Formats: sequence, C-alpha cells, structure tokens
Amino acid sequence: MNRNSFSRRAMLRAAAVLGAAGVTGGAMLIENVIPHSVRHKGFSKVRGLNLLRCCGDDPATMTRLWTAICFALISLLVLPAAYGQDLRVSLLGTGFVQPAMDRFGPSTLDEAGGDKLLFDCGRGCLQRLAQLGVPLKDVNKLFITHFHSDHLVGIDDLWLTGWIRGRTDVPLEVWGPPGTRAMMENLVKAFDLDIQIRQNAGNSEGIKMTVHEIKEGVVYERGGVKVTAFDIAHGNIKPALGFRVDYRGHSVAMSGDTAFSENLIRFSRGVDLLIHEVSAAPQTGVAVHVTPEEAGQVFDKVKPKLAVYSHIILPPNFTASDLVARTRQTYKGPLEVGEDLMVINIGESVKVQPRSK
Ligand SMILES: [Zn+2]
Ligand SMILES: [Zn+2]
Repeated sequence: MNRNSFSRRAMLRAAAVLGAAGVTGGAMLIENVIPHSVRHKGFSKVRGLNLLRCCGDDPATMTRLWTAICFALISLLVLPAAYGQDLRVSLLGTGFVQPAMDRFGPSTLDEAGGDKLLFDCGRGCLQRLAQLGVPLKDVNKLFITHFHSDHLVGIDDLWLTGWIRGRTDVPLEVWGPPGTRAMMENLVKAFDLDIQIRQNAGNSEGIKMTVHEIKEGVVYERGGVKVTAFDIAHGNIKPALGFRVDYRGHSVAMSGDTAFSENLIRFSRGVDLLIHEVSAAPQTGVAVHVTPEEAGQVFDKVKPKLAVYSHIILPPNFTASDLVARTRQTYKGPLEVGEDLMVINIGESVKVQPRSK
C-alpha cells in the first residue's frame, strides 16, 4: 500500500525541497551580488530596492534572482495545499463480528492536524495500521463506541503491542462510555505477568493509560480538533455512541452501531463525510442496525458530500451491489461501499484515494 503517494507528507516534502531550492538560489544570489556590488563600489549603498537596482544590469544575477523568487513562491503555494487536506479517514476494518479475511473488525482512523484518532479497535486493527504504514507509537488516542466485543478485541493488542513497539513515552488515552475504566483496569490484571516482565526491562511509561468516561457532548478539543460524542439507537445496548470529528471547517461523522437514529441525523448535519453501518440481514425484534433503505433515508436527510458504508453485515449471497441497489430506493447522492484500507481525504472536496494492497 503506497499510502503516501498523494499524502500531506509528500506535499510537505515537495514544499521543503522547493523551499530549499529557493534558499540555495537566494544564497547564490547574495554570493553573486556581493562581488558585483564591490565591483561597482556601491556595496555600502546596497540596501532594499537598491539591491535590485544594483544587480539589474547583470542578466545572470537577475536570472538567479527570479529563479529564487519562483522557487520560494511555489514552495509557499505548496505548503497551504499540503495543510488544506484537513482530514483523512482510513477504514481499517469494515466488517463485524464474523471473522473474514477481507473485512476485519470495526475500526476507523481519523487524522486531523497532528492527531491520529482511532475509533473502535476490532480484530486485525494493528495489521491494517501496519499495512497503511501508520507508526504504532503515534496511535495513542482511542475512542470506544460501545461494549460489543467485535469493536474491542484489538484494544489489548493496541495497548500492549503499541507499547512494546514504539509508544514508550506516552500513555494510551482512551475515551468511552461508563464502564471503560473497569474494562481497561481488567486488561491490566489480565496481562499483569507480561507487564511486570517488560517493566523490569526499564520500559514503563507507555504501559500506562488515561481513561475518560464520556457521555453525549464535546469530549475532546485540542489544537483545533474537536470530537463530539452523540447517543445512537443500538437496541438495549446502552450507552452506545457515535462520534463526529471537526477540524478547520471540515468534518466526518461515524455512526457506531445503530438502528435508524434521528439524533445521529441531528449531530451529523453539515458533515463532509458520513460513515454509517448497515445490515442487509433480515431483522427481527428490536432493531439494532439499519437496513440499506433506512440508511438511505439518513443520508438523504444529512446530505453529506459523501456517504460511506462501514460495519457491513452481508448475509451469504448478498453483494455490495445489492446494498447499493437497496439504498438507491431512498437516496440518490454520492455513496461508496467501504472496504478495508479505503482512505478518504477531506479538503475542499471529499476524495476516495486510490489504493493498492
Ligand atoms: Zn458491531
Ligand atoms: Zn454493536
């Protein structure tokens, strides 16, 4: 997976190269101007616009001057473009409780500014992070939607392997519904022997964790990145949360597991990207998931720039095309059926990044 082919990192690298070229050009210019000015016995008067006047009669110097200015200007243009890519959303796992090779457990990575925010940590989360080339040490903020195990079984891997493989100096910070603290403390008990052995090797800070038990409302606000939790409708599984991330005027909402939810529609208004769960399985009793037709109604009300399915429950003999056809009965707007490792860049437009596994 060549994650960086269109990435901010690549653009920053280009800006750095162009900027360096501008600086080098400027240095060559000064080197040239000094003897030139000395030749003209006017160096002491060379200040401000006099510099340009002084070297204006030397074509070679002028060429270097304009080259340096062009490189510097292009560099300045590329830098904002790099930062204009405000939000990046990576679908790490688009499946559910069913073990499958093509759809790992539910997990989504949102990158905004310098933050890497992980939403749920299902089966295979770390393998997907590795495939995307995301350093484990950078993934130290986890948000939990609810306590169904398919959303959680990768947490011990993230916490322990993240610690062993890079996150040595900062704790894992976790936000989740009431009950999150008890779950994390029980993980400490479960892995106590391994933790002791590794701590004795002098590696201690990264094994710590900071837990925030949250409810509906703004739960995180740092460096211009805002995360808002909202209640959803997951049958009798309560609390169950969806999340919205806002950064620099752009936004993504993630449904968590939910049946049709007016509250989700309310909190998702105006988002660029709406990631929603879906189930094509026949429902009995109290609804805990949405049908494709219901999801279409949600999309039609929210009107995101792009709607994407994740946490996809497909019974045997159902395909992604069936999901789309049923959704089209209630929604005609932009729609993607998510896949593991799909990356969506949200800037002036919302674009699904081409991928190669
Ligand atoms: Zn689920
Ligand atoms: Zn669930």
